[in-house]
Amino acid sequence: KVIDLEDLPNVGPAIAEKLREAGFSTIEAIAVASPSELSAAAEIGESTAAKIISAARKLADVGGFESGDKVLERRRRIGKITTGSKALDELLGGGVETQSITELFGEFGSGKTQICHQLAVNVQLPRDLGGLEGSVIVIDTENTFRPERIIQMAEAKGLDPEEVLRNIYVAQAYNSNHQMLLVDNAKELANKLKKEGKQVKLLIVDSLMAHFRAEYVGRGTLADRQQKLNKHLHDLMRFGEIFNAAIVVTNQVQAKPDTFFGDPTKPVGGHIVAHTATFRIYLRKSKGELRVARLIDSPHLPEGEAVFKVTERGIED
Ligand code: ADP
Ligand code: MG
Repeated sequence: KVIDLEDLPNVGPAIAEKLREAGFSTIEAIAVASPSELSAAAEIGESTAAKIISAARKLADVGGFESGDKVLERRRRIGKITTGSKALDELLGGGVETQSITELFGEFGSGKTQICHQLAVNVQLPRDLGGLEGSVIVIDTENTFRPERIIQMAEAKGLDPEEVLRNIYVAQAYNSNHQMLLVDNAKELANKLKKEGKQVKLLIVDSLMAHFRAEYVGRGTLADRQQKLNKHLHDLMRFGEIFNAAIVVTNQVQAKPDTFFGDPTKPVGGHIVAHTATFRIYLRKSKGELRVARLIDSPHLPEGEAVFKVTERGIED
């Protein structure tokens, strides 16, 4: 049986509406919220918020466990977005998945931002062509979003470039706090768009770590940084679950000075990023337009590599 928000104590229609608008549309979403989040969202006191959360926890029965059939039901709704390359799609088990965080990491020029642009176009394609007929939100931290590039890629797919650009919502993040705040704004925007009949199916953060890395320098600040990063990633993950949207983040690499064999670089962000990203793809430059993608640490896909191209038309085999 479906439980309405209004079934919770202290939640009338007005508060329920505010909660839904803020993205707390289910009992489960409320059950895992913090009192301060809920109090801000519904404009209620923290003690009332705490009571609502505790009632939601009892009703939702969330002790962090979900029965296997429920997991299956949720996973059945997972959508996949084509990257434009069959080889890369295959490596990913069919494309970039909703309800997951996909991390693209690699050196400068390895194609991270290009894949982001391509996904922003492809998510708008009809389902039979590998899209989800969805809109896109981009959190751009390095000022590398280029509408001109979107136009090229849209034209190559036979889409109306103006229409494609209208479905991409871009915000520049000026620092890491702003970057985190923009996820809240993205939730609001996605809810607003939903009312207009538009579904946000992709949220991009390009790049995830640049601000965090620049702002938190020195050993003493690392714990603080990781704590914020942890919250940021969980907010992103929750966005993916609430809206059944794909989350794509890009990440830089740093040299591993102690490596004697294999690749001497690794993604930044430490174990928090490593454990939260569901799919981690390492991108390398090869000859000319060729790029190599390697899937790392996937829970259910074999490790492997795919070769694709970055051309004027976009991402291709
Ligand atoms: P990063 O991993 O640093 O985000 P990018 O995704 O920006 O790297 O990749 C930049 C590379 O993409 C360029 O070096 C070039 O090889 C390729 N590229 C970018 N725009 C075009 C284009 N219009 N036509 C062909 N290749 C392009
Ligand atoms: Mg880039």
